[in-house]
Amino acid sequence: MQAMNYRGPKRVRIAEKPMPEILHPDDAIIRVTRACICGSDLHLYHGMVPDTRVGSTFGHEFIGVVEEVGPTVQKLKVGDQVLVPFNIACGKCAFCKQGLYGNCHESNSMATAVGGIFGYSHTAGGFDGGQAEYVRVPYADVGPTVIPEGMDLDDALLLTDVVPTGYQAAEMGGIKKGDTVVVFGAGPIGIMAAKCAWLFGAGRVIVIDHLEYRLDFVRQYAQCEAYNFKSVVDPVLFIKKTTDWFGADVCIDAVGSDACGSMLNTITGKKLMLQAGAATALHWAVNAVKKGGIVSVVGVYGPTDNLVPIGNVVNKGLTIRANQASVKRLLPRLIEHIKSGVLDPKGIITHRIPLSEVADAYHIFSSKLDGCIKPVLIP
Ligand code: NAD
Ligand code: ZN
Repeated sequence: MQAMNYRGPKRVRIAEKPMPEILHPDDAIIRVTRACICGSDLHLYHGMVPDTRVGSTFGHEFIGVVEEVGPTVQKLKVGDQVLVPFNIACGKCAFCKQGLYGNCHESNSMATAVGGIFGYSHTAGGFDGGQAEYVRVPYADVGPTVIPEGMDLDDALLLTDVVPTGYQAAEMGGIKKGDTVVVFGAGPIGIMAAKCAWLFGAGRVIVIDHLEYRLDFVRQYAQCEAYNFKSVVDPVLFIKKTTDWFGADVCIDAVGSDACGSMLNTITGKKLMLQAGAATALHWAVNAVKKGGIVSVVGVYGPTDNLVPIGNVVNKGLTIRANQASVKRLLPRLIEHIKSGVLDPKGIITHRIPLSEVADAYHIFSSKLDGCIKPVLIP
């Protein structure tokens, strides 16, 4: 079968790989019909996640058709059309039982902090992902969910990660009625976080990025304010000024590790250093939130990034909440939000690219070319 193949930083290509097989009785094999590239894949692509092995296949956002099921699988049958949460979760461990499906204790034998994730390096369990014609899905009775009848397939696809992650970013922010919420990053995740912030009662939503096309998009799509951090002297001072010098009630980091990050001095706006793995957005979030406020982090950081401005966190009495989204926990309510029209995620998909052109697709998304917000690969 054809599959995306990682060759090293900024080098991916299409390759022939053996068909995946049922390895455990509760596995299923899915024939992939659509698979996204995510901002999280870009951390792998940029070589920032340890133990990303040459030859591995990325892809944790995919939908498809059940091709084969293991002997103990009960909830799926061959031919079902399913969406597959990006977290690989056993459904039975202490963490899954609490709804922390992103922190499953069984699915990642590497015993790192995170549970298993499709196509996300050996740090996240070493599973091959869904940017391929076929993929093996472990614990098939837990994650995969039959796509509700009548649901648009692009909406279903975005339920595998983007929608739950944006929603959880807002949820972890503990947004109260009338709150001012600042979202750093106008990628798919930041866009969805901004949209969801309104559902929790925000009174004002401000998005910060530097890509004008994305700022234009999010203004329209999420009816929020959006500013270019390159056109304000300092984004932190800018946010303080526009909130009567209090700071935002809630700041959301929807950026994560910055591949060619420049850490800015938030007082002078001068560059302090240029270093991969900088946490510029996280610093801005900590400095721009009010005293006693909440910083919600869904941006992904490599384990070696250790740049939390802990002094300001202590002095301001902040709460920092962070996690991988728990897709399965949120699916029932998000399916309802899509059915009722409260959320309409498919509008963020800008590109459909054949899987065979995966190298171009990564280049376009990574370099933010051609107005790209969310690219979908079609096997
Ligand atoms: P993306 O690359 O499309 O978007 C990131 C955006 O951040 C870009 O528009 C970029 O211009 C902007 N940006 C860069 N530096 C910034 C800064 N200092 N301030 C403000 N904006 C800045 O990626 P995406 O798909 O939207 O993903 C965003 C982050 O969310 C990534 O780190 C990804 O790994 C993470 N993520 C987390 C989860 C989770 O479960 N926690 C799930 C999916 C994605
Ligand atoms: Zn993702």
